[in-house]
Amino acid sequence: MTRVVADGKIRGFIQVGQEMRVKFVAGNWKMNGSLSANDTLLQALLPALRDISGMDIAVCPPYPYLAQVRRAAEGSQVALGGQDLCQYGNGAYTGGVSAEMLRDLGCGYVIVGHSERRTLFGEGDALVAEKFAAALKAGLKPVLCVGETLAERESGATDGVVARQLNAVLQRSGVAALREAVIAYEPVWAIGTGKTATPEEAQAVHAGIRGLVAKSDTAVAAAVRIVYGGSVKASNAAQLFGMPDIDGGLIGGAALVADDFAGICRAASR
Ligand code: PEP
Repeated sequence: MTRVVADGKIRGFIQVGQEMRVKFVAGNWKMNGSLSANDTLLQALLPALRDISGMDIAVCPPYPYLAQVRRAAEGSQVALGGQDLCQYGNGAYTGGVSAEMLRDLGCGYVIVGHSERRTLFGEGDALVAEKFAAALKAGLKPVLCVGETLAERESGATDGVVARQLNAVLQRSGVAALREAVIAYEPVWAIGTGKTATPEEAQAVHAGIRGLVAKSDTAVAAAVRIVYGGSVKASNAAQLFGMPDIDGGLIGGAALVADDFAGICRAASR
């Protein structure tokens, strides 16, 4: 695996075999924001991202603000994503938001299986796999979150947990579906805690995930982007993103601060 030089500048590409993986950074705003707070954030963020190239950037605001962010980000390189979706198509599902609706609102991505959905809302592997399939069917790129709790890590169960979460999706949608998806390794103990996995700890799990995918399809394994999430900051992003199997980040808290999110994107574009 080598970093490649494009146009005389080192870009955020990593080459494995024949594949080039473009780095991906997504901001998960979670249940934060208001019309005016979002305006303030976007007015600072969009200009700060303007000179960043050679990577993919997305922001995932709460559903009610998707249209606002879409308008503000029009013509920029910032793509739009949902934070979750309903597993069903349009119909009598009160409170649900379908993949078709997210597409209609201009989303290209949707997060599925975030640990907050798994733990606080009781979403299991089978439901996450259904949501992943629904996203794909509508032409959205699912960002599939996997990751272990602290207790699972301490009992040596990390690889098994991540494999179980990933296999549920592979069994439902098939390995080729990963070509249209992003995997986010997010150790639950690192989310919103200020504790970050070391680059080596994260790399070990990312390599394990890629190895697991390779057992089904080596080409897909080389192509799929595996991003890291868990207290990524502008100060630790470059080290994390410099690891061979870390293809960017899913960012929570730091995505709400324009300079911090721009700094993380800049680290990925190097
Ligand atoms: C997340 O919620 O996906 C996340 C990574 O949060 P934070 O960056 O705040 O740890």
